Amino acid sequence: MIAMQRRRKLKCSFCGKSDKEVTRLIAGPGVHICDACVGICNKVLEAAPVVRAGWPAMTNDQLLGALKVAEATVDATRAVLQAQIEELRRREISWETIGQALGISRQAAWERFS
Ligand SMILES: [Zn+2]
Repeated sequence: MIAMQRRRKLKCSFCGKSDKEVTRLIAGPGVHICDACVGICNKVLEAAPVVRAGWPAMTNDQLLGALKVAEATVDATRAVLQAQIEELRRREISWETIGQALGISRQAAWERFS
């Protein structure tokens, strides 16, 4: 009998994609992050100074100009959440369990992500 030791599969700690599914995977102490998640982080950081400045202090043009960045951040974050849920579904995790983790009903989880 041959003892086989399989290399532990590396995956992004944020979106759960394996090193085979992403272009780059960066290692930190006990965590990994993929290129796509770094991109999302950058979008969040780009938007952060705008939020810190405070909306009341911003001109109409500044507020309007910040809308696309805010929307891109929401879209990118939603895409990660969707990918995470698709991975859970691939693992045959029920909508009931996913709903519980999100604090919503099975029906609401299914309607939102299926
Ligand atoms: Zn990732």
